[in-house]
Amino acid sequence: MKTCRRFEAIRAGYMRDIQYLNDHAERRHSPAAAASANIARGARHRMAQALNHHLRRCRECG
Ligand SMILES: [Zn+2]
Repeated sequence: MKTCRRFEAIRAGYMRDIQYLNDHAERRHSPAAAASANIARGARHRMAQALNHHLRRCRECG
């Protein structure tokens, strides 16, 4: 599938956050780390929604 720059920018932004949260979650075993893992899950879900929304509206992607 071909995707546009905007799609990549959206994905890169979310992936940076998710990576940061996962790193934090893996390095420690604490309530804060568990919270980070949960936030990362939520962020992945929002990323999927944002990208799907973009794909429905974008003329360049497809
Ligand atoms: Zn696009």
